[in-house]
Amino acid sequence: MDQKALLHKHLKEYFGYDTFRPLQERVIQAVLEKKDNLVIMPTGGGKSMCYQLPALILEGVTLILSPLIALMKDQVDGMNANGIPSAYLNSSQNSSEVDTVIQKLTDGKLKLLYLAPESLKTFETLIAELPIGLIAIDEAHCISSWGHDFRPAYTQLSFLKKQWPTIPIIALTATADKATRSDILNQLNLKSAQQHIASFDRPNLSLEVQVAHDRITKIVTFIKERPNSSGIVYCLSRKTTEQVANSLQKKGYKAKAYHAGLPAEERSEIQENFVHDKSKIICATIAFGMGIDKSNIRWVIHYNLPKNIEGYYQEIGRAGRDGIAAETVLFYSYADVIQLQKFANNSSNKEVQLSKLERMKQYTEALSCRRKILLNYFGEFVEKDCGNCDVCKNPPTIFDGTLLSQKILSGIARLREKEPIGTVVDFLRGSQNALIYDKGYQHLKTYGLLKKMAWSDVQQYTIQLLNLGYCELAFHENNAIKLSQLAKKILFENEKVYLTKVLLKPTSKKKSSPKAKQKKIPSLFENLRGLRLEIAQQKNIAAYLVFSDATLKQMELKRPMNEADFKKIEGVGRKKFEDYGAAFIKRIVAFQKSTAPSNLKKTVENTFQKTLELHQKGLSAPEISTKRKLHLATVQNHLLKLFQKGEDVNLNEFVTQKEITEINKARRELKNSKSLRLYFDHFEEQMPYPSLKFGLAILERNTD
Ligand SMILES: [Zn+2]
Repeated sequence: MDQKALLHKHLKEYFGYDTFRPLQERVIQAVLEKKDNLVIMPTGGGKSMCYQLPALILEGVTLILSPLIALMKDQVDGMNANGIPSAYLNSSQNSSEVDTVIQKLTDGKLKLLYLAPESLKTFETLIAELPIGLIAIDEAHCISSWGHDFRPAYTQLSFLKKQWPTIPIIALTATADKATRSDILNQLNLKSAQQHIASFDRPNLSLEVQVAHDRITKIVTFIKERPNSSGIVYCLSRKTTEQVANSLQKKGYKAKAYHAGLPAEERSEIQENFVHDKSKIICATIAFGMGIDKSNIRWVIHYNLPKNIEGYYQEIGRAGRDGIAAETVLFYSYADVIQLQKFANNSSNKEVQLSKLERMKQYTEALSCRRKILLNYFGEFVEKDCGNCDVCKNPPTIFDGTLLSQKILSGIARLREKEPIGTVVDFLRGSQNALIYDKGYQHLKTYGLLKKMAWSDVQQYTIQLLNLGYCELAFHENNAIKLSQLAKKILFENEKVYLTKVLLKPTSKKKSSPKAKQKKIPSLFENLRGLRLEIAQQKNIAAYLVFSDATLKQMELKRPMNEADFKKIEGVGRKKFEDYGAAFIKRIVAFQKSTAPSNLKKTVENTFQKTLELHQKGLSAPEISTKRKLHLATVQNHLLKLFQKGEDVNLNEFVTQKEITEINKARRELKNSKSLRLYFDHFEEQMPYPSLKFGLAILERNTD
């Protein structure tokens, strides 16, 4: 068997996949050629496969240095569940546990050994005698003082190359700019390492920014629509994590607060329950998530504005690591900007922090595809808009906001530039609150000038004026909003201002129709998820280590009811098939029996409905096919059927007006024939099948 075939065989047998993710195969081949490698891959890109698979082929044991002791058990459980004998050595074990591992090592029974760099000294003699096949250094950015998680123990790793000059070393990280990259290579003594830099794009993560107004209500609605899915709400302060968790608990959700101020035991319990799917919602400071390798986090919400784009991207990156769709929402408030500016001003590298915050702010205010901005930030340039961010889905509308701006700016002037945004908005909307009455603002001209506009809209337009430079905030005067020189041009010279229409974001995506309320029967996915949890609890491992969400989704879609079909599912390797296959097949068969045949019809309707929803959001057929993991032809077929059923489907993507005219002509000549073949021949095979099919459907609908 040649090497390529062998790799694919192992990929299916041990990991259950048919294809490699981008870059994995190239890295693995370089490792097997005994080259040194530096791999930069985003979280969820499949980094660990780059050393786990070669470990199976190379002789001896693969040594993995990783800083995250909390993560080692899950990683080792995961490998053993795949049938790859693995173990770890760290400070959490007692001496008999250590002895068991050492015995296995001496007997040559292990393929992977995980170690923290701090433990290298302790086990020096043991390791010196091991037949090592490969050394992997995970989270390699910890080696560099340029990186954000510097760990002193990492800087002592330069001896590895000296001690084992012929053994390949692979260094891996998810974040590394140029300076950090060359630092890693220097410190590890890897003079001729190959560098592999994967794309940072995570197309399965949807991106959305919302105005931070009534956040709790918005979050509750969001969670309600996504029952049973795991998610994290990131907050800026410890206090906020507790407040948000409390508010959610009052609404009946078992949300937990997590921050560095809690006792270590409580923290690790919260983390473990989350990883094991026992609790679904965590309200946390950004400290949470670093040591977590949970693939089925379905959403991440930023309750507050993050400090910079690196942090933001890392945090949202914790969602959807199994590659299936996951959602992210960021709440944007001007109060957060002010708060973060204060932090930055008091920090040692003020300029850098302020400029990073500025980029973050620009991202939230973006009028073009947000993903492009993110990728651009990481040095990747893409031409096409992503179609999976809020800007792509609802492109902004620009309007002549001169009159509106004049009203807002004169409101600011009337309050003698002494009040913060909130009071200006209250004043313009004619609020009858104590603050306004105490100061007698209700008697001023322009009071209540924007009575008819929603509070958050007036606030948003004021912020737009602020961002356009027509006014500014005086941080040292209680954040009073003041007019700038430019404002005079609008107020007195009638200069035009263009503003972006504030979209009334629906707090709820779908109005719950009576139909939706009836839908109480748990889906097969829910059913299998239940089985997975039972197994995981019996074995005391994380649920996603049994099968990932993506694998369960595949089972729901393909409904394998025998061994052969079950083995074809992505994520089902040999060992997992032996361990869990029978139980899952049994569950699927039972489900089919209990729900057939009406359920099948529902599934079919469902899949059409999903395609329609994506289409109506503006996704093209190829985009839908990628997103839904369906063949392009299937998606086209869905859209055709939906169109024929009279749904609102736009077929311009498939057939041009000119083609329709030609097909119409042919239709008359062929006496309204329905045989596609006949048309195909008529055009001497020059007209593609899809154009013909869709063209005829349009003509038929018009004749009806
Ligand atoms: Zn986009």
